[in-house]
Amino acid sequence: MPEAVDVAVVGGGVIGLSVARELRLAGVDRVLVLEREGSVGQGSSARANGGVRAQFTTRANIEFSAFSIAELERLEAATGLLGFHQTGYLLLCGTEAGERGLAEAFALQRSLGVDVRWLGPADARALVPFLRPDGLRAATFHHRDGFLDPHGVVTAMRAEADRLGALIRTGAEVVAAEPAPGGAIDLRAGDDTVRAQHVVNAAGPHAGRVAALFGAELPVAPVRRNLAYVREPAGPDELIPMCVDLDTGVLVRREVSGGFVVAWSDPEDPPSWDTTVDPGFLEQLAQRVGNRFPLLEELPLDPRQCWAGLYPETPDHHAVVGPAPEAPALLHCAGFGGHGVMHAPAAGRAVAELVTLGRCRSFDLHPLRPERFAEGDLVIETAVL
Ligand SMILES: Cc1cc2nc3c(=O)[nH]c(=O)nc-3n(C[C@H](O)[C@H](O)[C@H](O)COP(=O)(O)OP(=O)(O)OC[C@H]3O[C@@H](n4cnc5c(N)ncnc54)[C@H](O)[C@@H]3O)c2cc1C
Repeated sequence: MPEAVDVAVVGGGVIGLSVARELRLAGVDRVLVLEREGSVGQGSSARANGGVRAQFTTRANIEFSAFSIAELERLEAATGLLGFHQTGYLLLCGTEAGERGLAEAFALQRSLGVDVRWLGPADARALVPFLRPDGLRAATFHHRDGFLDPHGVVTAMRAEADRLGALIRTGAEVVAAEPAPGGAIDLRAGDDTVRAQHVVNAAGPHAGRVAALFGAELPVAPVRRNLAYVREPAGPDELIPMCVDLDTGVLVRREVSGGFVVAWSDPEDPPSWDTTVDPGFLEQLAQRVGNRFPLLEELPLDPRQCWAGLYPETPDHHAVVGPAPEAPALLHCAGFGGHGVMHAPAAGRAVAELVTLGRCRSFDLHPLRPERFAEGDLVIETAVL
Protein backbone atom coordinates (compact mmCIF):
# COMPACT_ATOMS: atom_id res chain seq x y z
CA MET A 1 0.00 0.00 0.00
CA PRO A 2 1.29 3.51 -0.74
CA GLU A 3 2.17 5.73 2.20
CA ALA A 4 -0.88 7.94 2.81
CA VAL A 5 -0.58 11.65 3.63
CA ASP A 6 -2.97 14.58 3.60
CA VAL A 7 -0.61 16.93 1.80
CA ALA A 8 2.63 16.19 -0.05
CA VAL A 9 4.77 19.26 -0.73
CA VAL A 10 7.13 18.86 -3.68
CA GLY A 11 10.23 20.94 -2.96
CA GLY A 12 12.00 21.77 0.30
CA GLY A 13 13.04 25.34 -0.46
CA VAL A 14 11.92 28.29 1.60
CA ILE A 15 8.45 28.14 0.03
CA GLY A 16 7.86 24.41 0.57
CA LEU A 17 9.07 24.62 4.17
CA SER A 18 6.86 27.61 4.90
CA VAL A 19 3.88 25.79 3.36
CA ALA A 20 4.56 22.71 5.52
CA ARG A 21 4.83 24.84 8.66
CA GLU A 22 1.58 26.69 7.96
CA LEU A 23 -0.28 23.48 7.09
CA ARG A 24 0.63 22.02 10.47
CA LEU A 25 -0.25 25.28 12.23
CA ALA A 26 -3.66 25.06 10.52
CA GLY A 27 -4.11 21.54 11.91
CA VAL A 28 -3.49 19.44 8.80
CA ASP A 29 -2.51 16.04 10.13
CA ARG A 30 -0.04 14.32 7.81
CA VAL A 31 2.23 16.73 5.93
CA LEU A 32 5.20 15.40 3.99
CA VAL A 33 7.85 17.49 2.19
CA LEU A 34 9.65 15.67 -0.64
CA GLU A 35 12.99 17.24 -1.52
CA ARG A 36 15.20 15.77 -4.21
CA GLU A 37 18.52 17.12 -2.88
CA GLY A 38 20.37 15.68 0.12
CA SER A 39 19.27 18.61 2.25
CA VAL A 40 16.65 21.33 2.16
CA GLY A 41 17.17 24.89 0.95
CA GLN A 42 19.86 24.17 -1.64
CA GLY A 43 18.00 25.62 -4.65
CA SER A 44 17.24 29.28 -5.38
CA SER A 45 16.76 29.84 -1.66
CA ALA A 46 20.51 29.32 -1.13
CA ARG A 47 21.41 32.05 -3.66
CA ALA A 48 19.18 34.92 -2.57
CA ASN A 49 20.30 38.37 -1.52
CA GLY A 50 17.92 38.36 1.43
CA GLY A 51 16.14 41.61 0.56
CA VAL A 52 12.75 42.22 2.20
CA ARG A 53 10.56 45.07 1.02
CA ALA A 54 6.99 46.28 0.93
CA GLN A 55 7.80 48.71 -1.88
CA PHE A 56 6.12 46.92 -4.79
CA THR A 57 3.73 48.35 -7.37
CA THR A 58 0.78 45.94 -7.13
CA ARG A 59 -1.73 45.26 -4.39
CA ALA A 60 -1.02 41.51 -4.47
CA ASN A 61 2.70 41.91 -3.85
CA ILE A 62 2.31 44.70 -1.29
CA GLU A 63 -0.20 42.65 0.71
CA PHE A 64 2.06 39.57 0.62
CA SER A 65 4.92 41.78 1.86
CA ALA A 66 2.97 43.46 4.64
CA PHE A 67 1.89 40.08 6.04
CA SER A 68 5.31 38.53 5.57
CA ILE A 69 7.30 41.37 7.16
CA ALA A 70 5.22 41.10 10.33
CA GLU A 71 5.69 37.32 10.35
CA LEU A 72 9.44 37.57 9.71
CA GLU A 73 9.71 40.05 12.60
CA ARG A 74 7.88 37.55 14.83
CA LEU A 75 10.03 34.65 13.65
CA GLU A 76 13.20 36.63 14.26
CA ALA A 77 12.05 37.52 17.78
CA ALA A 78 11.14 33.88 18.47
CA THR A 79 14.21 32.16 16.99
CA GLY A 80 16.95 34.78 16.55
CA LEU A 81 17.98 32.85 13.42
CA LEU A 82 17.03 35.26 10.66
CA GLY A 83 19.66 37.99 10.97
CA PHE A 84 16.88 40.42 9.99
CA HIS A 85 18.31 43.96 9.70
CA GLN A 86 15.49 46.43 9.16
CA THR A 87 17.66 49.03 7.49
CA GLY A 88 14.82 50.04 5.17
CA TYR A 89 14.84 50.13 1.36
CA LEU A 90 15.65 53.44 -0.28
CA LEU A 91 14.34 53.77 -3.84
CA LEU A 92 15.97 56.63 -5.78
CA CYS A 93 14.99 58.21 -9.07
CA GLY A 94 16.33 60.96 -11.29
CA THR A 95 13.88 61.04 -14.19
CA GLU A 96 10.43 62.56 -14.60
CA ALA A 97 8.92 59.24 -15.66
CA GLY A 98 10.65 57.49 -12.76
CA GLU A 99 9.25 60.02 -10.32
CA ARG A 100 5.73 59.56 -11.69
CA GLY A 101 6.00 55.78 -11.27
CA LEU A 102 7.44 56.16 -7.78
CA ALA A 103 4.60 58.53 -6.79
CA GLU A 104 1.96 56.05 -8.01
CA ALA A 105 3.56 53.15 -6.13
CA PHE A 106 3.97 55.35 -3.04
CA ALA A 107 0.25 56.26 -3.08
CA LEU A 108 -0.78 52.61 -3.45
CA GLN A 109 1.56 51.48 -0.67
CA ARG A 110 0.25 54.21 1.67
CA SER A 111 -3.36 53.33 0.84
CA LEU A 112 -2.59 49.74 1.91
CA GLY A 113 -1.21 50.87 5.26
CA VAL A 114 2.52 50.72 4.48
CA ASP A 115 4.31 53.53 6.34
CA VAL A 116 6.50 54.50 3.38
CA ARG A 117 7.97 58.02 3.34
CA TRP A 118 8.57 60.41 0.44
CA LEU A 119 12.06 61.94 0.58
CA GLY A 120 13.91 64.72 -1.17
CA PRO A 121 17.58 64.50 -2.18
CA ALA A 122 18.85 65.94 1.12
CA ASP A 123 16.92 63.35 3.19
CA ALA A 124 18.24 60.57 0.99
CA ARG A 125 21.81 61.81 1.45
CA ALA A 126 21.30 61.92 5.20
CA LEU A 127 20.59 58.17 5.07
CA VAL A 128 23.43 57.35 2.65
CA PRO A 129 26.13 60.03 2.73
CA PHE A 130 28.13 58.60 -0.21
CA LEU A 131 25.17 58.83 -2.58
CA ARG A 132 25.77 60.94 -5.70
CA PRO A 133 22.95 63.51 -5.55
CA ASP A 134 23.29 64.98 -9.07
CA GLY A 135 19.94 64.94 -10.83
CA LEU A 136 18.25 63.07 -8.01
CA ARG A 137 14.56 64.06 -8.01
CA ALA A 138 12.94 61.95 -5.32
CA ALA A 139 13.20 58.87 -3.15
CA THR A 140 10.96 56.66 -1.05
CA PHE A 141 11.91 54.89 2.17
CA HIS A 142 10.19 52.24 4.27
CA HIS A 143 11.84 51.59 7.61
CA ARG A 144 10.49 48.03 8.10
CA ASP A 145 12.09 46.83 4.86
CA GLY A 146 15.63 45.51 5.03
CA PHE A 147 17.58 42.34 4.51
CA LEU A 148 18.09 39.01 6.23
CA ASP A 149 20.02 35.79 5.91
CA PRO A 150 18.09 33.47 3.54
CA HIS A 151 19.83 30.45 5.09
CA GLY A 152 18.58 31.64 8.48
CA VAL A 153 15.00 31.76 7.16
CA VAL A 154 15.32 28.22 5.77
CA THR A 155 16.75 27.02 9.09
CA ALA A 156 13.98 28.69 11.10
CA MET A 157 11.21 27.41 8.78
CA ARG A 158 12.64 23.90 8.87
CA ALA A 159 12.98 23.91 12.66
CA GLU A 160 9.37 25.07 13.02
CA ALA A 161 8.08 22.53 10.51
CA ASP A 162 9.95 19.77 12.39
CA ARG A 163 8.73 20.95 15.78
CA LEU A 164 5.14 21.01 14.51
CA GLY A 165 5.42 17.45 13.23
CA ALA A 166 5.75 17.86 9.46
CA LEU A 167 7.81 15.09 7.86
CA ILE A 168 10.71 16.16 5.65
CA ARG A 169 12.24 13.60 3.32
CA THR A 170 15.41 14.46 1.40
CA GLY A 171 16.91 12.56 -1.52
CA ALA A 172 13.31 12.13 -2.71
CA GLU A 173 12.84 13.39 -6.25
CA VAL A 174 9.26 13.22 -7.46
CA VAL A 175 9.40 11.71 -10.93
CA ALA A 176 5.81 10.66 -11.64
CA ALA A 177 2.25 11.48 -10.61
CA GLU A 178 -0.88 9.46 -11.26
CA PRO A 179 -4.54 9.83 -10.31
CA ALA A 180 -5.59 7.59 -7.40
CA PRO A 181 -9.06 6.66 -6.06
CA GLY A 182 -11.15 9.37 -4.38
CA GLY A 183 -9.40 12.26 -6.15
CA ALA A 184 -6.07 11.52 -4.48
CA ILE A 185 -2.73 11.51 -6.30
CA ASP A 186 0.01 8.88 -6.22
CA LEU A 187 3.49 10.37 -6.35
CA ARG A 188 6.53 8.29 -7.13
CA ALA A 189 9.80 9.34 -5.49
CA GLY A 190 12.57 6.76 -5.79
CA ASP A 191 11.17 3.41 -4.61
CA ASP A 192 8.42 5.07 -2.60
CA THR A 193 4.89 5.78 -3.63
CA VAL A 194 3.07 8.43 -1.64
CA ARG A 195 -0.73 8.83 -1.87
CA ALA A 196 -1.72 12.42 -1.15
CA GLN A 197 -5.10 14.12 -0.98
CA HIS A 198 -3.39 17.36 -2.05
CA VAL A 199 -0.03 18.00 -3.68
CA VAL A 200 1.68 21.39 -3.45
CA ASN A 201 4.04 22.27 -6.28
CA ALA A 202 6.80 24.26 -4.51
CA ALA A 203 9.61 23.23 -6.85
CA GLY A 204 10.94 26.77 -7.46
CA PRO A 205 12.51 27.11 -10.92
CA HIS A 206 11.60 23.43 -11.58
CA ALA A 207 7.91 24.06 -10.98
CA GLY A 208 7.09 23.91 -14.69
CA ARG A 209 8.62 20.43 -14.87
CA VAL A 210 6.70 19.25 -11.82
CA ALA A 211 3.48 20.67 -13.29
CA ALA A 212 4.15 18.69 -16.48
CA LEU A 213 4.09 15.42 -14.45
CA PHE A 214 0.40 16.20 -13.91
CA GLY A 215 -0.24 17.20 -17.51
CA ALA A 216 -0.45 20.81 -16.29
CA GLU A 217 1.14 23.85 -17.88
CA LEU A 218 2.91 26.41 -15.73
CA PRO A 219 5.00 29.25 -17.23
CA VAL A 220 7.69 29.40 -14.55
CA ALA A 221 11.11 29.83 -16.17
CA PRO A 222 14.60 29.74 -14.61
CA VAL A 223 16.32 33.10 -15.12
CA ARG A 224 19.90 33.65 -13.99
CA ARG A 225 20.57 36.54 -11.64
CA ASN A 226 24.06 37.65 -10.57
CA LEU A 227 25.40 39.37 -7.47
CA ALA A 228 28.77 41.05 -6.99
CA TYR A 229 30.74 41.61 -3.82
CA VAL A 230 32.82 44.75 -3.43
CA ARG A 231 35.43 44.81 -0.66
CA GLU A 232 35.82 47.69 1.74
CA PRO A 233 39.45 47.71 2.84
CA ALA A 234 38.72 50.08 5.75
CA GLY A 235 36.60 47.35 7.39
CA PRO A 236 32.93 47.18 8.39
CA ASP A 237 31.03 50.46 8.65
CA GLU A 238 27.48 51.40 9.60
CA LEU A 239 24.74 49.56 7.74
CA ILE A 240 22.86 51.52 5.09
CA PRO A 241 19.39 50.97 3.63
CA MET A 242 19.12 48.64 0.65
CA CYS A 243 19.57 51.30 -2.04
CA VAL A 244 17.89 50.94 -5.41
CA ASP A 245 18.88 53.28 -8.23
CA LEU A 246 15.72 53.14 -10.32
CA ASP A 247 17.46 54.97 -13.21
CA THR A 248 19.87 52.06 -13.76
CA GLY A 249 18.37 49.18 -11.76
CA VAL A 250 21.48 48.84 -9.58
CA LEU A 251 20.96 47.64 -5.97
CA VAL A 252 23.50 48.18 -3.20
CA ARG A 253 23.59 47.10 0.43
CA ARG A 254 26.36 46.95 2.97
CA GLU A 255 27.22 43.54 4.45
CA VAL A 256 27.21 43.20 8.23
CA SER A 257 30.82 42.02 8.07
CA GLY A 258 31.80 44.88 5.74
CA GLY A 259 31.87 45.36 1.99
CA PHE A 260 28.93 45.79 -0.37
CA VAL A 261 26.67 43.36 -2.19
CA VAL A 262 25.69 44.83 -5.56
CA ALA A 263 23.04 43.52 -7.93
CA TRP A 264 21.72 44.36 -11.34
CA SER A 265 19.17 42.38 -13.34
CA ASP A 266 19.33 42.43 -17.12
CA PRO A 267 15.69 42.48 -18.30
CA GLU A 268 16.85 40.86 -21.55
CA ASP A 269 18.38 37.77 -19.87
CA PRO A 270 16.86 34.68 -21.53
CA PRO A 271 15.81 31.66 -19.44
CA SER A 272 18.71 29.36 -18.65
CA TRP A 273 19.79 26.75 -16.08
CA ASP A 274 23.31 28.25 -15.93
CA THR A 275 24.31 29.37 -12.43
CA THR A 276 27.88 30.51 -13.10
CA VAL A 277 28.41 34.27 -12.84
CA ASP A 278 27.84 35.92 -16.21
CA PRO A 279 31.07 37.78 -17.14
CA GLY A 280 28.94 40.31 -19.05
CA PHE A 281 27.18 41.15 -15.79
CA LEU A 282 30.31 42.64 -14.22
CA GLU A 283 30.89 44.83 -17.26
CA GLN A 284 27.30 46.03 -17.31
CA LEU A 285 27.42 46.72 -13.60
CA ALA A 286 30.63 48.75 -14.00
CA GLN A 287 28.87 50.97 -16.56
CA ARG A 288 25.98 51.70 -14.22
CA VAL A 289 27.12 51.68 -10.59
CA GLY A 290 28.71 55.16 -10.73
CA ASN A 291 25.38 56.84 -11.47
CA ARG A 292 24.51 56.95 -7.74
CA PHE A 293 27.35 55.08 -6.04
CA PRO A 294 30.69 56.44 -7.36
CA LEU A 295 32.41 55.26 -4.18
CA LEU A 296 31.98 51.69 -5.39
CA GLU A 297 33.88 52.41 -8.59
CA GLU A 298 36.95 53.06 -6.45
CA LEU A 299 36.73 49.87 -4.39
CA PRO A 300 38.01 46.40 -5.36
CA LEU A 301 35.49 43.90 -6.64
CA ASP A 302 36.17 40.39 -5.33
CA PRO A 303 35.35 37.90 -8.12
CA ARG A 304 35.62 34.94 -5.72
CA GLN A 305 32.70 36.27 -3.73
CA CYS A 306 30.37 37.01 -6.63
CA TRP A 307 27.62 34.49 -7.22
CA ALA A 308 24.60 33.68 -9.38
CA GLY A 309 21.38 31.71 -9.02
CA LEU A 310 17.99 31.26 -10.62
CA TYR A 311 14.88 33.38 -10.24
CA PRO A 312 11.76 31.24 -10.74
CA GLU A 313 10.21 33.83 -13.09
CA THR A 314 6.72 34.27 -14.51
CA PRO A 315 5.68 36.52 -17.43
CA ASP A 316 4.01 39.07 -15.11
CA HIS A 317 6.51 38.85 -12.21
CA HIS A 318 3.88 37.54 -9.83
CA ALA A 319 3.85 34.15 -8.15
CA VAL A 320 1.32 31.47 -9.05
CA VAL A 321 -0.73 30.36 -6.05
CA GLY A 322 -3.82 28.23 -6.50
CA PRO A 323 -5.27 24.96 -7.78
CA ALA A 324 -4.16 23.78 -11.22
CA PRO A 325 -7.12 23.82 -13.62
CA GLU A 326 -5.91 20.51 -15.11
CA ALA A 327 -5.66 18.72 -11.72
CA PRO A 328 -7.54 20.39 -8.84
CA ALA A 329 -5.75 18.31 -6.15
CA LEU A 330 -2.54 20.00 -7.30
CA LEU A 331 -1.89 23.44 -5.81
CA HIS A 332 0.81 25.55 -7.36
CA CYS A 333 2.88 27.74 -5.06
CA ALA A 334 5.75 28.81 -7.28
CA GLY A 335 7.15 31.50 -9.55
CA PHE A 336 8.21 33.92 -6.84
CA GLY A 337 10.94 35.52 -8.95
CA GLY A 338 13.18 37.75 -6.84
CA HIS A 339 10.84 37.82 -3.85
CA GLY A 340 10.40 34.21 -2.71
CA VAL A 341 12.33 34.48 0.51
CA MET A 342 10.51 37.62 1.64
CA HIS A 343 7.08 36.29 0.59
CA ALA A 344 7.46 32.78 2.02
CA PRO A 345 5.31 33.44 5.12
CA ALA A 346 2.36 34.76 3.07
CA ALA A 347 2.72 31.96 0.53
CA GLY A 348 2.54 29.36 3.28
CA ARG A 349 -0.53 30.95 4.85
CA ALA A 350 -2.33 31.22 1.50
CA VAL A 351 -1.82 27.53 0.70
CA ALA A 352 -2.81 26.41 4.20
CA GLU A 353 -6.10 28.31 3.86
CA LEU A 354 -6.75 26.88 0.40
CA VAL A 355 -6.30 23.36 1.78
CA THR A 356 -8.23 23.75 5.03
CA LEU A 357 -10.96 26.24 4.01
CA GLY A 358 -11.17 25.64 0.28
CA ARG A 359 -10.54 29.36 -0.25
CA CYS A 360 -8.03 31.97 0.84
CA ARG A 361 -9.29 34.33 3.53
CA SER A 362 -6.12 36.37 4.15
CA PHE A 363 -5.35 37.45 0.57
CA ASP A 364 -7.08 38.03 -2.74
CA LEU A 365 -5.40 35.33 -4.83
CA HIS A 366 -7.23 36.27 -8.04
CA PRO A 367 -4.19 38.00 -9.61
CA LEU A 368 -2.07 34.95 -8.72
CA ARG A 369 -4.40 32.24 -10.09
CA PRO A 370 -2.85 29.77 -12.56
CA GLU A 371 -5.56 30.39 -15.20
CA ARG A 372 -4.53 33.99 -15.79
CA PHE A 373 -1.92 33.08 -18.40
CA ALA A 374 -4.38 31.19 -20.61
CA GLU A 375 -6.92 34.00 -20.11
CA GLY A 376 -4.33 36.66 -20.99
CA ASP A 377 -5.42 38.58 -17.91
CA LEU A 378 -2.12 39.65 -16.35
CA VAL A 379 -1.30 42.37 -13.84
CA ILE A 380 2.37 43.27 -14.26
CA GLU A 381 4.72 44.01 -11.37
CA THR A 382 7.17 46.65 -12.56
CA ALA A 383 9.38 46.93 -9.47
CA VAL A 384 11.45 43.94 -10.58
CA LEU A 385 14.92 44.10 -9.09
C1 LIG B 1 20.76 35.99 -7.09
C2 LIG B 1 19.41 35.91 -6.42
C3 LIG B 1 19.03 36.93 -5.54
C4 LIG B 1 17.78 36.88 -4.92
N1 LIG B 1 17.45 37.84 -4.03
C5 LIG B 1 16.28 37.75 -3.35
C6 LIG B 1 15.95 38.71 -2.35
O1 LIG B 1 16.71 39.66 -2.12
N2 LIG B 1 14.79 38.56 -1.68
C7 LIG B 1 13.94 37.52 -1.93
O2 LIG B 1 12.89 37.43 -1.29
N3 LIG B 1 14.21 36.61 -2.88
C8 LIG B 1 15.36 36.70 -3.60
N4 LIG B 1 15.64 35.80 -4.57
C9 LIG B 1 14.59 34.86 -4.99
C10 LIG B 1 14.44 33.70 -4.07
O3 LIG B 1 15.69 33.07 -3.87
C11 LIG B 1 13.44 32.71 -4.67
O4 LIG B 1 12.27 33.35 -5.06
C12 LIG B 1 13.07 31.65 -3.62
O5 LIG B 1 14.23 31.08 -3.08
C13 LIG B 1 12.21 30.57 -4.24
O6 LIG B 1 12.04 29.57 -3.28
P1 LIG B 1 11.45 28.17 -3.69
O7 LIG B 1 11.32 27.39 -2.44
O8 LIG B 1 10.25 28.39 -4.54
O9 LIG B 1 12.56 27.57 -4.67
P2 LIG B 1 13.88 26.71 -4.32
O10 LIG B 1 14.63 27.29 -3.20
O11 LIG B 1 14.60 26.51 -5.60
O12 LIG B 1 13.28 25.35 -3.82
C14 LIG B 1 12.68 24.44 -4.70
C15 LIG B 1 13.12 23.06 -4.26
O13 LIG B 1 12.43 22.08 -5.04
C16 LIG B 1 13.30 20.98 -5.21
N5 LIG B 1 12.80 20.20 -6.33
C17 LIG B 1 12.73 20.54 -7.64
N6 LIG B 1 12.17 19.56 -8.37
C18 LIG B 1 11.87 18.56 -7.50
C19 LIG B 1 11.27 17.28 -7.64
N7 LIG B 1 10.87 16.82 -8.84
N8 LIG B 1 11.11 16.51 -6.54
C20 LIG B 1 11.50 16.95 -5.32
N9 LIG B 1 12.10 18.16 -5.13
C21 LIG B 1 12.26 18.95 -6.21
C22 LIG B 1 14.64 21.65 -5.48
O14 LIG B 1 15.71 20.78 -5.24
C23 LIG B 1 14.60 22.83 -4.50
O15 LIG B 1 15.20 22.52 -3.26
C24 LIG B 1 16.89 35.80 -5.19
C25 LIG B 1 17.28 34.79 -6.05
C26 LIG B 1 18.52 34.83 -6.66
C27 LIG B 1 18.92 33.72 -7.58
